[in-house]
Amino acid sequence: MLGRLSASATITLLGAAGEVTGSCTLLHTPRGRVVIDFGLFQGTPAQEQRNLLVPEIGWATLDAVVVTHAHVDHCGRIGMLPKLGCDAPILCTQITAELLPRVLRSSANLQQIRVEEWRDGTGPVARVVDPPQPIVPEQESLMPPVLYGTRDVDQVLHQVRGIHYDVWHEIRPGLRIRLHDASHIIGSASVEVAWDDAGATKSVLFSGDLGPHHNPLLRERPQLSPVDTVVMESTNGGRDIPRSTAGPEALGAVLQRVSAKGGRILIPTFSLGRAQLVQWRLAQLARAGALHGMGVCVDASLALRAADLHLHHPELLADEARVMAEAGQDPLGFANLTKVFNRKHSLKISAATTPAVILAGSGFLDAGPVLRHLASLVSEDRHAIVFAGHQLPGSLGQGVLSGAKAIELKEGIFEVKCETVHLEGYSGHADRSDLLHWLESREGGTPRVLLNHGEQSSREALGADIRQDLGLSVELPSQLIPISL
Ligand SMILES: [Zn+2]
Repeated sequence: MLGRLSASATITLLGAAGEVTGSCTLLHTPRGRVVIDFGLFQGTPAQEQRNLLVPEIGWATLDAVVVTHAHVDHCGRIGMLPKLGCDAPILCTQITAELLPRVLRSSANLQQIRVEEWRDGTGPVARVVDPPQPIVPEQESLMPPVLYGTRDVDQVLHQVRGIHYDVWHEIRPGLRIRLHDASHIIGSASVEVAWDDAGATKSVLFSGDLGPHHNPLLRERPQLSPVDTVVMESTNGGRDIPRSTAGPEALGAVLQRVSAKGGRILIPTFSLGRAQLVQWRLAQLARAGALHGMGVCVDASLALRAADLHLHHPELLADEARVMAEAGQDPLGFANLTKVFNRKHSLKISAATTPAVILAGSGFLDAGPVLRHLASLVSEDRHAIVFAGHQLPGSLGQGVLSGAKAIELKEGIFEVKCETVHLEGYSGHADRSDLLHWLESREGGTPRVLLNHGEQSSREALGADIRQDLGLSVELPSQLIPISL
C-alpha cells in the first residue's frame, strides 16, 4: 500500500511518532514519493533493535530522500539505503552534505565496535552504584544491531546532493522542494515540498528540528511559508526552557569559582550543536579576558569540524558571530583553545593537572572520551562537571546530576566528590513558546498541523496550546498510519 503511487496524497510517520528518535516520514503525492529523514532509534537496547525493522514502503522506487540535518536521530539510517535497493538522490543542505560522510562513517565504525565489545564483554562501564540501581535484564542480552558497514556508506555518499537554501529544486516534473534554515545546528533545514495537483499547488512543510527563537550563534529562523500542512517537531513542546543560565555570565562564574580552587571543569557535550554553543560562550569569555587562567580543550573531532564550518559560513550566523566571520576572524576560536583529534592526545589531556575546561562526548556520560576525563576528576572536590542542558533519564549523566554518591567506570568505582552544575538554556531545540511563535508568525494561510518528534505528553501539551492560542487544527499521527492530505 505504502509503495504504490495513487491519486491522493498521504503522510505516514515511520518513526518519531510520540517519541524523539527514529525520525522518518513518507510523503506520498500523485507526482512522486519522498522520504524526509531516516534516523536512528536510540535509547535502550530494545529501542535500538527497532532500527532493524524497516517498513516496506517500496524503497527502490522512491524519488528522493531528504535529510533535514546531520544528527543521527535524523540521518543515522541513511547507510541502510543501498541494502534496501534505494538509489534515489539524497538531498540536503551543502553543509549537511559536508558533515554526512563523517557522521555516517563514525556511525558504521561505532556499530562494529559495539558488537565486538558486546561479544568480548568490554563495552563502556558507566553506571551509578550508590544509590544502587535496578538491573534491567535486557541490557545484558541483546546484541547491538549492525545496520550497515563503511562500504555501504561509501556507496550511499554518491547519492548525496547538497542544495542551496531558499531555492526550489525539482525532484520530478510537478514535484519540488525548498530548504529553509531551521537554526537548530549549522546546516539544519526545514523542508517545504510542493506539487502540482489538477491545476493547483499543494504543499507541506516539514519543520525538522527547530532551533530556539534567539539562537546565540545561528541566524534567526525565517518566517514559516504559507503552506497547506505543517509537520512539526514537539521535542520541548510541553515546556519553556529557562534561558537565564545560558549566557556567558553563568558559565564565567563557574570558571572563576573552580579556577580559584585550582580545579578542572568537564562539560559533557554532543558534537553537533551543543558543543558549538558552549564553545561560543567560552570564546566570548576568552575575548572578555574572563577565562580565569583556564585553557579550553575540545576533545571531539566532529565538533571541531562543525566549528570550522561556522567560520566559512558567516551568512548563517547570528550578528556578533557573523561580523567576526565576515572579517575573517574565527568566531569559535581563541588563544587558549586546544583541539584534540586523537586518543593519544586525549589521554595526555586527562592525565594533566593544569586548570582547564574540557568538552567531550558523549553528552549523556554513557560512552566516549568523556568517561576517561570523568575518571580523572570525579573524586576531587576542587573539580566540577557542568551539565549544559537536558540529561537522558537512566543515563550516568542523569544519575550524577541527581546526586549519585558513587559511580562505576572502566577504571573502577569512584566516589562523586566534584561539584555538579546544571546550566539550562543550551538546548538547540525551540521550546514551547518558540514553537508557538514560529507557527504564529507565518507569512499567511491557515495550515493543518501534524505533530511528530516529541514524547506523547509533549505532543499533547503543544497540540492543546496550538488549538487554543492559534486556533489551528492539530493532529498527532500514529506510526505507520497514513494521513490523507
Ligand atoms: Zn537535531
